Amino acid sequence: MASIFTKIINGEIPCYKIAETEDFFAFLDINPNAKGHTLCVPKQEVNKIMDLDEKTYMELMAFSRRIGQALEKTIDCNRVGIAVIGLEVPHVHVHLIPINEMRDMTFSHKVSLTEQEFVELAAAIRENL
Ligand code: AMP
Repeated sequence: MASIFTKIINGEIPCYKIAETEDFFAFLDINPNAKGHTLCVPKQEVNKIMDLDEKTYMELMAFSRRIGQALEKTIDCNRVGIAVIGLEVPHVHVHLIPINEMRDMTFSHKVSLTEQEFVELAAAIRENL
């Protein structure tokens, strides 16, 4: 069965899209640790990051860096933190989290955004790509 992220990539489930290339897709995390929390996903559906082939792994990191640079331009933050977990969704994804303090990297610390805030945030990040 297709993962929820494959369904997002295929447009079957809505998302706040940030960027798409032939091989990668980025969108806002729906339950963010901090404003601008973004997920970068390879279209290839692989469960664990250590199982990615080296080329895709390197390209995912390059794609994530490009998105992270746009996040740093858009969001007032100290820096963008990176995490890879995958315990909830078994389809490789890089969490990019604009952080000001350590708790922003804690997945039990969440912020809530309105629909309009998500829409405006995604547009602002896209403008800085
Ligand atoms: P993990 O697999 O533990 O790295 O976490 C999966 C992440 O995906 C969580 O931060 C969720 O909030 C996020 N997530 C799950 N479903 C969606 C969705 N439909 N749209 C955006 N983010 C999602």
